[in-house]
Amino acid sequence: MNRAYSRLLPLTLAMLLIGNAHADVSSPSQATPSGTYRTALGGLQFTGSHLETTSNGYTVESGNLMGKDGVAGGMVVVRSPDGAVTAFIEREDGRGILQVDTEGKRTFSQDVDQVFPRNHEIDQPVQNSNSVDAYAPDNMNYIDALVGFTAKALAAREVDPMAFALGQMEWVNLSLRNSKVANIELRLAGIRITDEDIPVTTAGLANWQRQLNAQRPHYRHDINVGFSVGGDAGGWAYRPGNSSVNSIHGTSPFKHEMGHNVGGGHCYPNAGDNYKHGYNGGGGFTTNLCGNSRPYYSTPDVTVNGSVIGNAKTANMARLWREQAHRLSSYSPAFEGARLIYVSSQDQARLTVAPAQARLRVGVVARSSDVGPTSLTYGGAGITTLTVKLTDSRGVERPVKLRAQRQVPGCPGQATTMNSYVVCHPVNGGAQFMLSYEKSDNPELPSGWYNGTVELEARNIDDKNWSLPILVSLAVRS
Ligand SMILES: [Zn+2]
Repeated sequence: MNRAYSRLLPLTLAMLLIGNAHADVSSPSQATPSGTYRTALGGLQFTGSHLETTSNGYTVESGNLMGKDGVAGGMVVVRSPDGAVTAFIEREDGRGILQVDTEGKRTFSQDVDQVFPRNHEIDQPVQNSNSVDAYAPDNMNYIDALVGFTAKALAAREVDPMAFALGQMEWVNLSLRNSKVANIELRLAGIRITDEDIPVTTAGLANWQRQLNAQRPHYRHDINVGFSVGGDAGGWAYRPGNSSVNSIHGTSPFKHEMGHNVGGGHCYPNAGDNYKHGYNGGGGFTTNLCGNSRPYYSTPDVTVNGSVIGNAKTANMARLWREQAHRLSSYSPAFEGARLIYVSSQDQARLTVAPAQARLRVGVVARSSDVGPTSLTYGGAGITTLTVKLTDSRGVERPVKLRAQRQVPGCPGQATTMNSYVVCHPVNGGAQFMLSYEKSDNPELPSGWYNGTVELEARNIDDKNWSLPILVSLAVRS
């Protein structure tokens, strides 16, 4: 099977299946106004080189920070659907996270300096050394990440978990683009939040790996990423491997730890006489594994500020990424459908399941009647109650009630039950799916975090052959 085809973006998939590739699915992505973060950049210029809106409505933007001598840092800006901004800023004299809430209130949270101890990666036996052959540069290799947070870590830095997780993925993607590694991309597959304290230690790494690996049949992800607080390092990772634990107090520890998962060591010859290292370019320019000061993986093929940022014999992480992409994207088969990630700190999660298109009558159903309605209906305004079994931090399973609705673009104020296929006017059509959690719907639920997944399906009443599976990741606090 052609990997690239099987891993198309959900929206593109929906459009292809519905058969109108020219449908306007959403307004074009808009960059966050530079006035939002300018004062935090210390005179550096942001060269936003990448801008996208995720299917969940978050906008992700990234690029380098330019000073008078060239590349002097990097920035990732994530904007939530309600307009709150989380900007991750990396520059020589200040690393931190700027948050601007929906009322315009600004908070800058400086990183707490965390060392990467000399040997904070745990070597693992290499299982498949010939994966070089499997890398097909013309096909996308998507690496889907399940991200876990401890409640203690979120309390320590008070970040929006969705924005933080998307931002950490983007630091790696920015580094790959900067280093001209094409067709490898990290994606967020789900978020879990635990009341258990899992620190940034080797035991914490093993704990995150055990817990998140156990969830693979449900989230269909490839790599495990934990964000924690406390412990003895900025991060720990298996080398090579697919798990890391990272300090929430870093702006971008994960792009370093991910380099270890790929199989890299620090600066040559930390990992032996080979090319699997980061690179120190001098003048404060270091790549992710050998200093972690700029969003780059070492490569002899890229020149920055007048210097090559790698060496074919001693520092070529770009090569190692290409060799390991197949392994890293193959821990689970690709989920063929759309993902919706809901954390109950958001008012509501929203997913476009069918593009705005005249007379396109699409609704969403449950796969099991224990969860919710399993067929489409000619229904009107209203709310569907979904009942989903989620587990607490000790593994106890509880039924949790969620609110689900559907909105047709161009039919404002007329959110229907999720399984309705009614459109307000023949010129309207398409569907957005909305999900939320209300404490008042769950008066019996003991306090704490509950996590899990549920599978739903979008259907078209006029085309029995079309459906779009929806895999929902849920992290709910009672
Ligand atoms: Zn390291």
